[in-house]
Formats: sequence, C-alpha cells, structure tokens
Amino acid sequence: MTAPLPQRLGSIDELSFAAVLSDLDGVVYRGEEAVPGAVDRFNRWQATGIPYCFVTNNAEKSAEVFAEKIRGLGIDCGAEQVVTSGDVALQYLQGQFSPGDGVYVIGSQSLKERVRNLGFRLVDMGAAAVLVALDRNFDYSMMTTALGNILGGARLIGTNPDLIRPLADGFEPGAGAIAHSIAVSSGVAPIFLGKPEPEIIQSAIKRMGIAAESSIMLGDKLDTDILASQRAGVRSVFMETGVPLDTRSTVRPDYILARLC
Ligand SMILES: [Mg+2]
Repeated sequence: MTAPLPQRLGSIDELSFAAVLSDLDGVVYRGEEAVPGAVDRFNRWQATGIPYCFVTNNAEKSAEVFAEKIRGLGIDCGAEQVVTSGDVALQYLQGQFSPGDGVYVIGSQSLKERVRNLGFRLVDMGAAAVLVALDRNFDYSMMTTALGNILGGARLIGTNPDLIRPLADGFEPGAGAIAHSIAVSSGVAPIFLGKPEPEIIQSAIKRMGIAAESSIMLGDKLDTDILASQRAGVRSVFMETGVPLDTRSTVRPDYILARLC
C-alpha cells in the first residue's frame, strides 16, 4: 500500500511552528554556495525569535567549524546551534565506556582529537570500541585492524549509515559503506548514531527547549532527514533544493517545498 502523497507548500509561511531543525547539505548550502533563499529565511527567523538548530550526519568537522561556515554564508550561528553525528557518537561513547578505554577510530583527525579529549585512548589494537566515520584514507590494513579489534570483543559503532554522499560533480561512498564493509567481514552489526536514528534530532530539540510537536525539520533525504524526524515526532518538510525526491521510497515527508524564499 502506498502512503498518501505529501502536501506541497507554496511557502514555509503556511506552517505554524516554534522552532526549526535543518539539515545542511542540500538545504542551506551545496558545496560552498548558499542554497537560494536559505540565508534570507534563517535571518528572518532569527529576527522574529524563532530558534533554529542544524543537524548533520557529517562527522568530519566539529560543530564550531560548521558554525563558522554557516556564519560565512551570512546566517547567525553559534557552535551550540549545530549537532553533528560525531557529537552523538561521542555522547554514546561516553555513556557506554569509561575514560581510559581504548578506541580505534577510522575518521578525520578532528574526530580523533575529540575522542581523545573525552579521556579515551586512541589505540590500534585492544580497543573497547571501533568508531567508524568517513575516512578517505580508509584501506585494507585499517579494515584488518578493525576486524581484529571486533573479533577481540570491541563494539562496532558508526557515526552515520550514509552509503553515498553527493559531490559537486558526482558521488562518493559514505561512512556507512566503510562501517558495513567491516560489519560484513566480522559478522557483527554496527550501531549507527546519526540520522535516521532520532537521537540527533532529540539532542537538537533539547538544546532549543521547544517541544518536538512544535518544531519542523527541513531535509533533502528521505531515508535520513525525514525518517529521523518522524521517529522523533517532528513534522518534516522535504526540500527540493538537494537530493531529488525518491518517489519509490516508503518514507513520506509531511510536506514538500521547492525553496525557502
Ligand atoms: Mg542533505
């Protein structure tokens, strides 16, 4: 059975809400360029006292670095207004493991530093957890090290399940593809923490202090942004400014909007 087609909005002003959650890539910017209408719209929300928070599955950089990029486009944004899948993965590590525990990290230097700053030891072998994010230097020897740790009892944790990432001129494999390759060889299923898991949305809502049902989420991917907002009880608006709508998907947003202006 197919779910009903979502309502197409002429303008975001047709909705009533008290807070905005938003994806970044494909909604606020594409590459280095702002998406048309996004800067003006966020500035209007800022001027009228509607709080907003950005939620991204990109774990390569810290919230402060994303906030800097957003400010560079002309949108007022502090580090506390950005939640990355890296942030929720680090929270998960803190909840599940103890300072001093070893973590084998596949990911950016920035992510490794953040893991170390929480008191964990960055190790190659003897890890309590293998944390997998996007790492363009990922190779067979890293896969072997991850496998060895998991066979030794380490937990496999992925910052996000994205299998593919859009680039300005094509696509690249996402962090989820790396985590799945390790999962397949070890026979251990990864625990994923970014969208579509609801924690990243819940964490952003908590920061703004607004109820989930009074918030909206803007996103351009059904299987991450829209599914995560549904799981968190937030109304979802599919933005047509990024990844094209997959009409075969069983995930349906509440609304569709062509642009924010
Ligand atoms: Mg996106």
